[in-house]
Amino acid sequence: DKILELNKVVKIYGENTKNPYKALHEVDLFFEKHSFNAIIGQSGSGKSTMLNIIGTLDKATSGRVLFNNEDISNYDKDQLAEFRNRRIGFIFQFHYLLPEFTALENVLMPYQISKQEVTDEVLNRAHYLLETVGLDKYKNTLSTNLSGGQQQRVAIARSLINQPDIVLADEPTGNLDSDSTENVYQLLRKINKELKTTFIIITHDRKIAEKTDRIIELKDGRVYTDITK
Ligand code: ADP
Ligand code: ADP
Repeated sequence: DKILELNKVVKIYGENTKNPYKALHEVDLFFEKHSFNAIIGQSGSGKSTMLNIIGTLDKATSGRVLFNNEDISNYDKDQLAEFRNRRIGFIFQFHYLLPEFTALENVLMPYQISKQEVTDEVLNRAHYLLETVGLDKYKNTLSTNLSGGQQQRVAIARSLINQPDIVLADEPTGNLDSDSTENVYQLLRKINKELKTTFIIITHDRKIAEKTDRIIELKDGRVYTDITK
């Protein structure tokens, strides 16, 4: 089953300026439920643009984006925010944790930001996720006192607190040494298997890309190669 479909997606930056730039050219792509995908490509090939559109952080200039066969292209700002909160998790190269808050508080941060109540169920889930990422001992530690790899694992737990269907990761290991990189990869894979979360991972790391199930290579705003194992 498809979870996500891009249909002739075009992104033009500066559309109404003298120098419009077409960053995505009629991209057609779909992603299977529970799949584990990598997006690779040189700097400027359109990876972040595509991830931002999939993540509803940015809108396509034309074309359609469908989640579970539902067209979200015409959602307004509020509908998109609500959709994004419920369905999509984000992991970035820089984890954007709040340093003076504990690991647990950081995992719960999406609830604070969207002013949703932290119920017992949510709290239990936060504990479960911290356990899953191997940080149950550190839940009351300020994130500033955690190592880079540990901080990224907190960010991974945070990305899952709303039980998203799909997690978008932009260079999740870009800032980590090779041990932490392997660790984070193993963790994402475990979550993919156990929680059935779909992953789309932008990475420059060939070794990581090759361990995923599908490698999509972008070039000049187009899908250049698309290889499923
Ligand atoms: P990647 O993530 O593969 O490095 P991007 O999606 O960031 O590529 O960028 C694709 C192209 O779009 C690049 O040529 C970039 O300069 C251009 N671009 C990205 N964001 C903007 C923007 N806000 N305004 C104008 N051009 C942009
Ligand atoms: P890049 O890969 O181009 O260097 P980043 O990975 O830093 O960019 O971020 C990708 C996009 O997501 C940017 O447009 C940024 O504004 C946005 N972004 C970064 N952090 C968050 C966040 N915590 N929540 C929502 N959007 C974010």
